[in-house]
Amino acid sequence: MHRLDTIELFVKLLSFKSITPEDDGALTFIRDYLDDFSAEWVNKVNVKNLFLYKKFGEGPHLCFAGHVDVVPPGDGWQSDPFVPKYEDGYIYARGAQDMKSGVAAFVQACKEAKNFKGTLSVLLTSDEEGEARHGTIEVLKHLKEKDFLPDYAIVAEPTCENVFGDAIKIGRRGSINGVIEKIGRQGHAAYPEKALNPIHKVAQVLPHIAGVDLDDGDEFFAPSKFVITDIRAGMEVTNVTPGKLKMMFNVRNNTKTDKAKIEAFVDRYFKDMNYILTLAQSATPFLTQKDSKIVKTITGAIESVTGVDPKYSTAGGTSDARFLAEYGIDVVEFGVRNDTIHAPNERTTPEEVEGLKKVFDEVISCF
Ligand SMILES: [Zn+2]
Repeated sequence: MHRLDTIELFVKLLSFKSITPEDDGALTFIRDYLDDFSAEWVNKVNVKNLFLYKKFGEGPHLCFAGHVDVVPPGDGWQSDPFVPKYEDGYIYARGAQDMKSGVAAFVQACKEAKNFKGTLSVLLTSDEEGEARHGTIEVLKHLKEKDFLPDYAIVAEPTCENVFGDAIKIGRRGSINGVIEKIGRQGHAAYPEKALNPIHKVAQVLPHIAGVDLDDGDEFFAPSKFVITDIRAGMEVTNVTPGKLKMMFNVRNNTKTDKAKIEAFVDRYFKDMNYILTLAQSATPFLTQKDSKIVKTITGAIESVTGVDPKYSTAGGTSDARFLAEYGIDVVEFGVRNDTIHAPNERTTPEEVEGLKKVFDEVISCF
């Protein structure tokens, strides 16, 4: 397919109505656009995933990864979210920041790549914004079977905060969800001695657990905090004390706190009570070392293209980078500013998308 410029490609990608898990043709378009890359489809259930690769030489395998799906537009748009509009220096459309900007930048950088020492690849899914069960995970499983896992990866999620170039993510916190059920004995409010009121029991331990840090964090991670999200008991009446209390909580955990540590923490305060704890880990934390080749190369590229020295962040929710990290791939995330992601009137500047493409050019040529 003939070459577009970066912004033409970006605008084209924005016009696909690719609400999770649909790609609306975006993946086929990219396969046709990168026509000198080998293509493999990894389709699972109702999700399409695309892996493209090209071997230039015997050196390392560098993968650019991302998603073409977007969250539903929601209300409050001033223009059609799937008809990109240029106004006041911004391009407005769903996915402008998260993350068709990133996809356009790395697809264009790969299209123009002349020399690379090893293998360049592109990993795309249309199942990131949903449950993410049939997306990147499945492609990695397939690559593992083929013994073709990348050595390094860049996920082009929007990471910058105030100016383009100011932040890359070198890790992410995990997420552990918990439910504590405290069993008591229901009774009349007038005869508290005959009942076992779970509210009174739990109230005594709340000061020791609510909002407490489970570790001190470190240079890159904030402390893992015990965040209570719900406490419920009772029947919304004043004369019955409840027989059961349910508390829900979440811990965005760093690499110093895991499920076992949370279990021990809860037990320290609840052990004298009749309680049931259920814990579920929805994401595992990871950290790519700052002296990894990928961290050093992208930092240098950002400095040379933008003049900004990026900070190393691990903040925010989870992303598909965690799946790559689980396979031992050194992964970083870098993309445009993220101030309007998932919001109405999502927008980014063409300069940022072009800048991002230049950073990726630089990474490819310096790696
Ligand atoms: Zn995203």
